[in-house]
Amino acid sequence: MIFGATGDLANRKLFPSLYRLFEKGNLSERFAVVGVARRPLSNEEFQENVKNSVQSAIKDSTRLDEFASHFYYHSHDVTDSSSYLALKSMAEDLDNTYGLEGNRIFYLAMAPEFFGTIAVHLKQDGLTETNGFKRLVIEKPFGHDLESAKELNSQIRHAFSEDEIYRIDHYLGKQMVQNIEVIRFANALFEPLWNNRHISNIQVTSSEVLGVEERGRYYEKSGALRDMVQNHMLQMVALLAMEPPIRLTTDEIRSEKVKVLRAMRPLEGDMVHEHFVRGQYGKGMLDGEQVPGYREEPMVDSESNTETFVAGRLTIDNFRWAGVPIYIRTGKRMAVKSTKIVIQFKDIPMNLYYETGQTVNPNLLIIHIQPDEGITLHLNAKKSGNQLEANQVKLNFSNKSGSGINTPEAYEKLLYDCMRGDATNFTHWDEVALSWSFVDKISEVWENHKAKNFPNYEAGTMGPEEADQLLAKEGFSWWPVADLDVDNC
Ligand code: NAD
Repeated sequence: MIFGATGDLANRKLFPSLYRLFEKGNLSERFAVVGVARRPLSNEEFQENVKNSVQSAIKDSTRLDEFASHFYYHSHDVTDSSSYLALKSMAEDLDNTYGLEGNRIFYLAMAPEFFGTIAVHLKQDGLTETNGFKRLVIEKPFGHDLESAKELNSQIRHAFSEDEIYRIDHYLGKQMVQNIEVIRFANALFEPLWNNRHISNIQVTSSEVLGVEERGRYYEKSGALRDMVQNHMLQMVALLAMEPPIRLTTDEIRSEKVKVLRAMRPLEGDMVHEHFVRGQYGKGMLDGEQVPGYREEPMVDSESNTETFVAGRLTIDNFRWAGVPIYIRTGKRMAVKSTKIVIQFKDIPMNLYYETGQTVNPNLLIIHIQPDEGITLHLNAKKSGNQLEANQVKLNFSNKSGSGINTPEAYEKLLYDCMRGDATNFTHWDEVALSWSFVDKISEVWENHKAKNFPNYEAGTMGPEEADQLLAKEGFSWWPVADLDVDNC
């Protein structure tokens, strides 16, 4: 059951992803999807919508009619018990028709304020009483701070146990985010070097070119810290910094990620100003066009204190990472759309090429998450010719060109995992709670100290100058993400 089936997420992501699973044979014939939303629609109208959204995402969709015939619609008010009773009887009928053995997945693709109410009703009105499995898939944001997240969690835990809850962080569905584990734990080359003896710093960048668009109302209450750092950025850091799990099982991986979040040094008071930088975009030029500043966007306060950019230095207090800064940055209206991780290795103990006037470039491992997918290793090798000069070479693997096919969409992967009951790539409550408690302390300081210099970066740049200073004071600088692209290698 997809709650919010007429919404943007359902149409752009969920229906096309389900179709891909269907076409690949990963979804058996024995399935039915009930679309639930407010607007009255017939099954036929709903099926037409489903077909249209699949077609706009996938050109060769040859089995569309067959696929869409599995879709049913229920016009629903999420706050009304009688509506759930009708939904229950519909689910029971479909259970018989398709032989579903009582297995149910409830996907909440709706505004977060409804999550708790829906979960409570699902139990109260009997939809969770079923002989098969029951699973709840819940979209972000999971609360807007620790308190609200706790409240939401207790509402959904009333109806579902922790192992039945699949909290979506769509970054965890991305191929290259999942690849972090493989790169680290399947290569004898990297794991022995993956510590403070050999790594000088790590940089995680997730930059967007888009502005806040139509999401001003939501974004004003959220900002980049809550929207990106609490979930996606900290999840990537946890995967990068975790200890090797004793087994590649959900529980073992999650428990190692939780340890990283527990080891992250909390920032309070003035430490926040020292280790974190916030930014807000002003007007600027993008692709030769003038774009407005954040404060000029629809539904945004003209004096807004909301950050559209965050950069921070994270400290992981454990033996492996003591002394290694992990820098993160994310923002809107930046110069390029890119999510990349740069692992910078320490310089060799003695630069033998120094006397020849040469600097030797540090070794870098770059994990390209999006839009490029791949890994690049920057090494030094001899230049061709008679001299023994070192020259930078880049070993490059691009997922797309390597396999020749487009990698599955994150949502396709996550839906499939959920159907198979694999929760590894979803966030556990402990991770959510620890991330919020880290982020809340920063928000508190920022809310109490209005940013005097907003807007402090021009649209179309890589953020405010303070973000560069954050690294410069430790002798580092951001690796320019555009130059690191797979295509530029
Ligand atoms: P949307 O506003 O486009 O869709 C909301 C849906 O909820 C519609 O189907 C609407 O009919 C339904 N709805 C609203 N009030 C209702 C009520 N009282 N009773 C029954 N149905 C009701 O929202 P969206 O962009 O699809 O986002 C849904 C969720 O997914 C949100 O939590 C959002 O944060 C999250 N999300 C969305 C995207 C995306 O790409 N759109 C990405 C990541 C996360």
